Amino acid sequence: MTVTLETQQSAGPVAEVAPAERTTAGDTAPRRPSLSPSRAADFKSCPLLYRFRTIDRLPERKSKAAVRGTLVHAVLEKLYDLPPAGRTVEAARTLVEPAWAELREEPGVAELFAALPEGEVSADEDGLDGWLASAGELVETYFRLEDPTRIQPHGREELVEVTLPDGLLLRGYVDRLDVAPTGALRVVDYKTGGVPREAFEAKALFQMKFYALVLWRTRGVVAAQLKLLYLKDGDALTYSPDEAELLRFERTLQAIWAAIERAVATGDFRANKSRLCSWCDHQALCPAFGGTPPPFPADAAAAAGWRTTLPLTVTG
Ligand code: SF4
Repeated sequence: MTVTLETQQSAGPVAEVAPAERTTAGDTAPRRPSLSPSRAADFKSCPLLYRFRTIDRLPERKSKAAVRGTLVHAVLEKLYDLPPAGRTVEAARTLVEPAWAELREEPGVAELFAALPEGEVSADEDGLDGWLASAGELVETYFRLEDPTRIQPHGREELVEVTLPDGLLLRGYVDRLDVAPTGALRVVDYKTGGVPREAFEAKALFQMKFYALVLWRTRGVVAAQLKLLYLKDGDALTYSPDEAELLRFERTLQAIWAAIERAVATGDFRANKSRLCSWCDHQALCPAFGGTPPPFPADAAAAAGWRTTLPLTVTG
């Protein structure tokens, strides 16, 4: 395997995909409250959204875009089960149907596609056939960005986690981790959206720096390259962090965590209205949209290991 350190950066449309948590089979729940890149991003963009997702654990609708992302990730993961010479575009496309057959068993997935009258197919991206075809196109685009016959991943869909000296548990899933014979690390993330505009690059790299920090703290090696592959545009964004930057990033995460702990202790999670609200399932409960959040679930928070100063229900 070769770790190439090319730099490809370009501007383009932002991927308008609702944030979604990974639903990897065999996922293990954290032993205690932890911080993942997506939940840290939630709190940064809207503390109330963080509360709804992480503390209240309110259900959310699945979107076709998010499910397509999960499907494409599954196909690219399985592609690397094949022997190197067999990792062709054709082979990858044949993986779409079985991956979909597995995915459609998950709650709320099959319901995304209204049944058509028997014998009728929809080539529209909104219909299942068109949607599956669009997933196949994203898979095909992947081959313009990398040659999978020349890559032997060290890890796929790999859980990485570390407890920092102050007790903060960081956890996340890396799409792919490559290790060169020299020991150089490359962290690869597949995005089914387009390349972000410049202003959003920092946001895209937040997740990658998170992984780089965890890997640095667990392996003592700063990743040589963080690589985001944007399958909609067929483009890539690469970045090479350094130690000083990861140290600063660690302090940023600690500050976010301290703010989350304060919010949980008091139950005070503010709504922060932004363009992300368009994808939020909780507008009906959000004060920014005239709603009222349910009472803060202090008992559930305490049971999950959070420290809270709020009164708890006394039982027994
Ligand atoms: S609607 Fe907007 S402000 Fe309200 S919880 Fe959702 S993201 Fe936050």
